[in-house]
Amino acid sequence: MNLCEISASQMRELLDAKKVSAQELAKAHLERIHRLDPTVRAFLKVCDEIALKQAGAAQERIMQGETNPLLGIPFALKDNMVTQGIETTCASKILEGWKPPYDSTVALRLAQHGAVLLGKTNLDEFAMGSSTEFSGFFPTRNPWDLARVPGGSSGGSAAAVAAGMAPIAFGSDTGGSVRQPAALCGVVGMKPTYGRVSRFGLIAFSSSLDQIGPFARNVRDAIWAYEASAGVDPNDSTMQDAPYDSQIAHRPAKAPKIGVPEQVMNEKIQPEVRALMQNAIKSLSDAGAVIEQVSLPMIEHGVSTYYIIAPAEASSNLARYDGVRYGLRIEAESASEMMRRVREAGFGKEVKERIIIGTYVLSSGYYDAFYTKAHKARTLMKTQFREMFSRYDALLLPTSPTTAFKIGEFAGDPMALKIADYCTIPANLGGFPAISINAGYSGGLPVGLQLVCDSFCEQTLFSIALLAESVLGAPKMPELVT
Ligand code: GLN
Repeated sequence: MNLCEISASQMRELLDAKKVSAQELAKAHLERIHRLDPTVRAFLKVCDEIALKQAGAAQERIMQGETNPLLGIPFALKDNMVTQGIETTCASKILEGWKPPYDSTVALRLAQHGAVLLGKTNLDEFAMGSSTEFSGFFPTRNPWDLARVPGGSSGGSAAAVAAGMAPIAFGSDTGGSVRQPAALCGVVGMKPTYGRVSRFGLIAFSSSLDQIGPFARNVRDAIWAYEASAGVDPNDSTMQDAPYDSQIAHRPAKAPKIGVPEQVMNEKIQPEVRALMQNAIKSLSDAGAVIEQVSLPMIEHGVSTYYIIAPAEASSNLARYDGVRYGLRIEAESASEMMRRVREAGFGKEVKERIIIGTYVLSSGYYDAFYTKAHKARTLMKTQFREMFSRYDALLLPTSPTTAFKIGEFAGDPMALKIADYCTIPANLGGFPAISINAGYSGGLPVGLQLVCDSFCEQTLFSIALLAESVLGAPKMPELVT
């Protein structure tokens, strides 16, 4: 048995039965990372020493009879979640070399559970992108086809899980950055309700949309990872202490009512992706689900709404990178010239573009025409979805309109990349929880199916995802690495 190709749940059984130690698990994964990652390039930093130390501590807890789902399980963290003393860059030159003085709540909670940190994963700079090509350092490759992107912005985390370099990883999802790379890499990716997982120590992109979510190779592992990370935190005032029923979450749903918006089953979606959605709908219906077509016209306005609100918030959040407090510093005659040079040299093109757009839509004279209007559209989107959730347990959509595209394919067409977020953005604008699971393969590339539920209904989301996974089958490993 290859220790890197089994699920976290199987690792748990081996650890509890003392058939394998946490150190052996950590070593197997580190060895695989050192062998495969020079090609895949999922990691910005690999923490060999820390991982082995944490694994030793986890093993001691296991030997004392303790168990919890993630104790001794290796995981990877997207490099926009701060880790005390471990370089955190957001894949930006402006933060190169920065070692945060504190841990993000998610990193802290996972450490408390005894999970073992393998390293920090690559992303589009400041999580702005859908392909990981906008990393300030290097692009990550899709383990299913090295000439293609893994999706983004959490492409490093998705590729790491797909390639067996970590059974679990965390990403952040502002407009689809967990679900879309999960779909393109053929793994499970989940975005919790806004307010479920603490954003403390998540480097802010768009604060009203950002949420941290897990990647895993099956739904059960994703539930475990979610449960370990969720729950109120006094350091994040946007959190809500809403109930969550773990028992319901772990039981496959029976006869759920599911709506399929017609706006995601049209020519905007690649025919092969649509065909796999139809297959999934048929299999789910055969398994007792009641599935109906619905109409959610606001979906059509998601991309334009998002690409006003997200840059507006980003332009404000990124104002803090001034060369004074941390990161890059380029000396100059005056403070303003120093800041200008730091921001010019430290930010990549995509980030600069978003700061400029964000500043523009917030400027006086344009504020109402863009920003206020986008907020009205966001409210309408939420209202339309809410109305659906009064009639359906979940909505089913493709996660991404296409399978993984070639690296560089959209280099000259920034709009095409943004349209890749068409199916994922609504859940962020509404704050709803959503999950992407594998629906099959087209031309050797994975296709993701997305389920979206009402806010704080994660237990329903997971139970329907378990049902869907049972009829669709758990994802395979790419041949490249087996
Ligand atoms: N692709 C979207 C963007 O570029 C979403 C990014 C994200 O979710 N972090 O903004």
